[in-house]
Amino acid sequence: MSGSKLAEPKLGVRAAQLNPSATVAMAQRVIALRAAGVSIVNLALGEPDFDTPPHIREAAKRALDAGATRYTDTRGTAALRTALADHFERAHGVRFGLDELMVSSGAKQMLFNLFQVTLDAGDEVIVPRPSWTSYPDLVSAASGRPVLVDTTPESGYTPSLAQLDHARSPRTRAIVLCSPSNPSGAVLAAGPLTEIAQWAAQHRITIIADDIYRALSFHGPAPSVCRAAHEAGADYVIIDGVSKTYAMTGWRIGFAAAHPKIIHAISDLQGQSTACASSISQAAALAALTGPQDCVTEMRDEFARRCKRLCALLRGLPDVRLPFEPLGAFYALPDLRAYLGAKTAGGETIADDKGLVRYLLDEAHVAVVPGSAFGAPGFVRIAFAASIPTLEQGITQIGAALAKLSR
Ligand code: PMP
Ligand code: GLU
Repeated sequence: MSGSKLAEPKLGVRAAQLNPSATVAMAQRVIALRAAGVSIVNLALGEPDFDTPPHIREAAKRALDAGATRYTDTRGTAALRTALADHFERAHGVRFGLDELMVSSGAKQMLFNLFQVTLDAGDEVIVPRPSWTSYPDLVSAASGRPVLVDTTPESGYTPSLAQLDHARSPRTRAIVLCSPSNPSGAVLAAGPLTEIAQWAAQHRITIIADDIYRALSFHGPAPSVCRAAHEAGADYVIIDGVSKTYAMTGWRIGFAAAHPKIIHAISDLQGQSTACASSISQAAALAALTGPQDCVTEMRDEFARRCKRLCALLRGLPDVRLPFEPLGAFYALPDLRAYLGAKTAGGETIADDKGLVRYLLDEAHVAVVPGSAFGAPGFVRIAFAASIPTLEQGITQIGAALAKLSR
């Protein structure tokens, strides 16, 4: 019961259709449990545990003192968009004009903006699964229809052309590709990527390249989705940001590169919502893109070390399968289906991955996310954006809790 005793409001239809984000919901639960004094090992949220590198924080302080405290151009400062043009040219060999670039308050807001301005009611967006929990809801929030395509670890989580053809309809407008992927850590190989890009070009389907984890590829650069789309002559939009690459999740800066007409529409929409991204955060993002990049290499290498350790730990747990070893990002997706149907000491049955995750939180005090939130039921997503000792503690506690289940 809230203190204000305000009268019960009537919510709009759209509010009733909204699903809360499973990742954000778990993060909120962890905050609440910790506030209640419970010690939780948090392997749920996809957020680097590193501090934002010092030179980026210093740039933000300097910007503040220099008076960068006002609204900026809705599309982002010219300096940041110029740095972005350089960044995309370095990454993909394609030079975008300033009218093709846009800055928002996070890649999530950019995807929201993109779907709002490009989709009509009933337009379809193909989303290969497992993939980030928010894509289908972001499409639905724009009255679009997400068309989910299930992929397997055996195929490296790569959709086949036959699957894509099956999913395609006259209403298909776009396909989302995220490489390295949240939640599987899969990287799209050059061969299949080229084929998908050619398929998209042939059917005039826009490729949405979510590059948010692109810098965190463990075995050399991930093949560029933008480059493949460009060479195939497919329409494409790049979504990127600083959250994961530079440990800047709280600064809320995301980017897009797209046709000027899309950027113009997004700018009009954003001009009616948040106006521009935070001026201070934009100055910090500028320092991130233009400053030394060794911090990125160091963080990526540490994620690769954690990945190796986590995979070894998971392989040591009885009846936990790890059908795919992540190639990038900071998530592993082990298969815990062997534990579904098991009974807790209190006699409760673990019916599905949501029940299992609840049990792990209550019994092991470890937070992870149900795979079903990403289209991988029976699996759980474990974020290795935590130190090796924390991962070791978390997996030990998970192992002890699993051992208490009777099967
Ligand atoms: N895409 C993917 C695949 C993600 O995992 C995230 C994580 N939040 C985002 C986009 C959005 O990132 P942000 O809004 O922090 O830039
Ligand atoms: N993308 C991260 C995750 O999947 C952060 C939370 C979110 O925005 O979904 O955990």
